[in-house]
Amino acid sequence: MVKLDPEEVWRCLGPAGAARESLNGDVLEATEFATTASKPRGISRVLNVESAKRGKVHFEFGHTAEGKRLPHLFDGAEAAIFLIATAGPGVETEVAAMMERGDHIEGVVLDASGSAVAINAAEQMQAQLMWEVEQAGYKVGPPITPGTEPWDIEGQRTMFDVLVADEIDVTLLESRLMYPQKTQSKLIPLGRNLKLVNNPDEAPCRTCRASRCPMRLEEYVGILGE
Ligand code: SF4
Repeated sequence: MVKLDPEEVWRCLGPAGAARESLNGDVLEATEFATTASKPRGISRVLNVESAKRGKVHFEFGHTAEGKRLPHLFDGAEAAIFLIATAGPGVETEVAAMMERGDHIEGVVLDASGSAVAINAAEQMQAQLMWEVEQAGYKVGPPITPGTEPWDIEGQRTMFDVLVADEIDVTLLESRLMYPQKTQSKLIPLGRNLKLVNNPDEAPCRTCRASRCPMRLEEYVGILGE
């Protein structure tokens, strides 16, 4: 069971402006409902990286991930964590019933609560796994999600080839969306000499001049000594 804070729901709802006060009760109620109706579960696996070049990362057992910028994210990577975490179908089933009844506002707020549970569950799992690999002496990179700039939505196929998501009752749909929808999938590079690390003090972005880079992790602070 996740411990959900109403602020996490607000983050998923986006800026509410003047409506914040009137929505407050709905948010509190939805936070409580989502906490009890969700059954968070997760699955993960670590695979060694065999090579990362020319827009393709090759993992052991023949798995691959394609994306022009992926080799940059895997520069120095020895392995990667694949993880899927889900809130379960409880919240979205109730959201569908609310929408059917015409309770649209409550439905939207509860939907955001389901997203918040899935994000919370994935972050907890991610933090635990990252901690374990860091304890073993590896650096970890920023989590990469299928359907984002470095890795398009077809990356979901790799995620579901690598992980037996049936074990947590998660299915990949033809559309490449997942069921339950309140599910997160991530790929996290790791390595003793990983270049692009998930640590602001070490991330090379701070001194990288690629001003239009869509994967930038940190603000450019200039070249040291300049
Ligand atoms: S800003 Fe530079 S170092 Fe950071 S991800 Fe982009 S290209 Fe890489």
